[in-house]
Amino acid sequence: MHVYTHPACLAHDTGPTHAERPQRLAAVTQALRERVPGLQWHEAPRAGVDALSRAHAPSLLSTVLETAPAGRIMLDPDTALSPDSAEAALRAAGAAIAAVDAVLGGATARAFCAVRPPGHHATRDTAMGFCLFNNVAVAALHALDVHGLSRVAIADFDVHHGNGTQAIFERDPRVLFASSHQMPLYPDTGHASERGVGNIVNAPLPPGAGSEAFRAAWESKLLPAIDAFAPQLLLVSAGFDAHRRDPLAQLQLEADDYAWLTMRLAAIAEQHAGGRIVSLLEGGYDLDALRDCSVAHAQALLAGGRTPLPMA
Ligand SMILES: [Zn+2]
Repeated sequence: MHVYTHPACLAHDTGPTHAERPQRLAAVTQALRERVPGLQWHEAPRAGVDALSRAHAPSLLSTVLETAPAGRIMLDPDTALSPDSAEAALRAAGAAIAAVDAVLGGATARAFCAVRPPGHHATRDTAMGFCLFNNVAVAALHALDVHGLSRVAIADFDVHHGNGTQAIFERDPRVLFASSHQMPLYPDTGHASERGVGNIVNAPLPPGAGSEAFRAAWESKLLPAIDAFAPQLLLVSAGFDAHRRDPLAQLQLEADDYAWLTMRLAAIAEQHAGGRIVSLLEGGYDLDALRDCSVAHAQALLAGGRTPLPMA
């Protein structure tokens, strides 16, 4: 399995008290290096403007790439842009593109992008919710438009609804978007009634829902939808902020829940997509939970599919 990251992703400066801080990414990469043998590490390239433009309006590209702030500025109350943010955003989206190229080119079946800023709240024209570019949307459109795929599924288990990803694809039947998330919670979208053109499947969960309700939502609703869509590539918006230790939400999951879901997703990828999965780090704001959950996720990605993995 390939892992894509870049030191520039650590230099995106959100300020001294911001939850989305560089230590998050450092915790993930250190835990993966120490606890998951067999990963092939790669430096993420920069995304090109052509690749970004498939998902984003020129106005957002200009905001992120050309503002060149002298110091840190806030694009909204949550979303910072620092002098080093443009490079971080280019490397984060570039990781997603390189991972898709590697997986669809046959170099590996699985890839994980250990990057920040996260992406799934960014809409076509608006950076929001800690996100500048929508990395998973850039990846999906690269797979569709450059590699010629016709069906890409995005599984989003971040505790927040991926409103940006949904908005970019809600009229694009080539993409299935399946999300579990806490509701009520930022950004207050993701009701079950939001169906797009039949390609959006939302499973909102109440605060305190816990492992059983989370697994039931995936087992009964989200996984069958992905299976029925028969994706040629499975992308994952891997946020770990539904963990019980996370300070921003109350869904009360354990690291084992991420191993379980990743194994289920890997089985569907084996069935339809030649095992091909590209997973991207989204949220997750407790460092210990980030370490445990990213390790559980990566181990399941490594083992998932053909080889049964004993559940921890
Ligand atoms: Zn989140």
